Amino acid sequence: MDTPMDMPYGAHRNSAPRALATEAVHAGRDDLARQGLHAPPIDLSTTYPSYDSRSEAERIDAFAATGAEPDGPPVYGRLGNPTVARFETALARLEGTESAVAFASGMAALSAVLLVRAAAGLRHVVAVRPLYGCSDHLLTAGLLGSEVTWTDPAGVADAIRADTGLVVVESPANPTLAEIDLRALAHSCGSVPLVVDNTFATPVLQRPVEQGARLVLHSATKYLGGHGDVMAGVVACDEEFAGRLRQVRFATGGVLHPLAGYLLLRGLATLPVRVRAASANAAELVRRLSADPRIARVHYPRLGGAMIAFEVHGDPHEVIGGVRLITPAVSLGSVDSLIQHPASISHRIVAADDRRDAGVSDRLLRLSVGLEDVDDLWADLDQALPERPADRRSAMTRARTADA
Ligand SMILES: *Cc1c(COP(=O)(O)O)cnc(C)c1O
Repeated sequence: MDTPMDMPYGAHRNSAPRALATEAVHAGRDDLARQGLHAPPIDLSTTYPSYDSRSEAERIDAFAATGAEPDGPPVYGRLGNPTVARFETALARLEGTESAVAFASGMAALSAVLLVRAAAGLRHVVAVRPLYGCSDHLLTAGLLGSEVTWTDPAGVADAIRADTGLVVVESPANPTLAEIDLRALAHSCGSVPLVVDNTFATPVLQRPVEQGARLVLHSATKYLGGHGDVMAGVVACDEEFAGRLRQVRFATGGVLHPLAGYLLLRGLATLPVRVRAASANAAELVRRLSADPRIARVHYPRLGGAMIAFEVHGDPHEVIGGVRLITPAVSLGSVDSLIQHPASISHRIVAADDRRDAGVSDRLLRLSVGLEDVDDLWADLDQALPERPADRRSAMTRARTADA
């Protein structure tokens, strides 16, 4: 009989559907109480003893055939790790997929997806701008041998060729927060896998698989970790694609460290609470920014969320230099607020024309709203925002006239 102790890591008996907030704190931990544990153990082993090399041979053959996680004890750290597997189980549950495969970073995750398709001879990628700057660069530079056609969502169906292996989008997109109708897009993709980078929305606000995406990618460095102290990536998908991803991960080595897996599982527990609280702060800041004459334009998705982009009439670099509470830094999704100038940093690697065509203006600032008190955040922005150049001129004229 299979006892709870024999169940694989992360397996759960409780098949009743559970709400997202419940999954966030329980998924990947279902076996703990039966093992007499409360916090998940961290397994730092790189290798595992086995006195039966015949059965090891069979397990390795099975992995080579399908990429399914080997039954029984782990084999070697690059094949899989029990602590990382807890995070994968939990994220799959939150995204509503069969499986998830974790990587050393978001870029390692995207690379693995591209390599899976390239290995099948399907190197052509259709993609919609804007994407995160380095994702754009990876495709444009063809570092992994892919060839990309950039189009808008309406052009995806026409851009697909016989050798198209993947359609890549972000929604809401980094950094403009542009949104895509994923259901309509998934329809245009036909049988070509659609990967949606869900880093900005998180499964709390959007579950792309429910709208027809085959793959959901995260830079887990952002909201999933949530505290700015772990770098990771993950792809949530069906088990068949997950097997291919594990084989690529095994062969190319972009594995996630078990300590990072532990921190990510811990981060997921508070994900719904963090995303909702930060989104409420963001919505209030959007309200105040939209009413402010120093602001030319505010970008905020209909979906909501904790990311804001805005354009100032004055010099955006003054905002970056002027904030005191908000940290001027690239990255996002942390408990504390971060602001950056995409044209200088996160999207610098994208050619200036492509960047501007994608709506990333030189005046655009991207703000990742954290969990601070919203009045403190506003006070910081308020003192950092530059006056409209016209207002400044008239203020100077007034001052000069007063002097005279
Ligand atoms: C940061 C980011 C990435 C890259 O993730 P890393 O963890 O930095 O490798 C990919 N997509 C989006 C939307 C991002 O914000």
